[in-house]
Amino acid sequence: MSDAGLMEDLYREIILDHYRQPRNRHAVDSPTCSADGSNPLCGDQVTVSVVVDGDRITDIGFAGNGCSISQASSSMMTQYVRGRTVAEARAGVGAFQQMMTTGEVAGLEGFDDIDALVGVAKFPARVKCASLAWKTLEQALNEGGAATPVTTDERSA
Ligand code: ZN
Repeated sequence: MSDAGLMEDLYREIILDHYRQPRNRHAVDSPTCSADGSNPLCGDQVTVSVVVDGDRITDIGFAGNGCSISQASSSMMTQYVRGRTVAEARAGVGAFQQMMTTGEVAGLEGFDDIDALVGVAKFPARVKCASLAWKTLEQALNEGGAATPVTTDERSA
């Protein structure tokens, strides 16, 4: 088997692990901001709730349902963001979006599992699945409180 094939298998295992055993899939106490996101093309839904204390994200949780890519990405996103500063979380959103655009691993510290989603970049419809949690996080951080819902459907955006 080629190295590329081995990496694809490894990445698939990481994605399935997050899908089957999602991290931070729970409600958080007294969130300071939250947002709902939906990807109508695939039927993915995610709600992200965040506790920001000063400039740090002290707690984050998500709820949702949808395809394995959307839910695994939600799990990975919360794992990355939890305990980081708001600025680091925003940098993560930017790095993820860049990975989806360029098709190259972000190589960011703390992105080890997230890099497993790099193959999604080849499939524009699945990019929406993978990006949903990150867009929803960004919306929650931008608007604070109960933010306006996010949708990947540009027609209604
Ligand atoms: Zn999906």
